[in-house]
Amino acid sequence: MSPQWLKGGEVRARKQHLCRTCGAVAAEPGETYRRDTYLGDGAVYDWVTCLACSEITGAVCDWVGYPDSIGADDYAAWAADHRHDEVWGEKARAFRSRLGIVEDGAA
Ligand SMILES: [Zn+2]
Repeated sequence: MSPQWLKGGEVRARKQHLCRTCGAVAAEPGETYRRDTYLGDGAVYDWVTCLACSEITGAVCDWVGYPDSIGADDYAAWAADHRHDEVWGEKARAFRSRLGIVEDGAA
């Protein structure tokens, strides 16, 4: 069963948080990141993302086609597919760079 979204939004960090989607630092203390709360498998849990990942979530959801359950793998697949895209290329490459991927032909 898909996790159920309970609440979420942008919050200010009191300590450093890592992005659950790309693994990079989502926020240092005082910076803003996104925190969503889900109910899944009978437990309530939080999902932390950096604002850059939060920005591409809608595009990844549309692309994958099952918006209530996407994971880090879906973001990576989307970014690989869109890294030369006219609209999303810059954000897709930025995502891959957060994963530590060096693009072919990058200077
Ligand atoms: Zn991220």
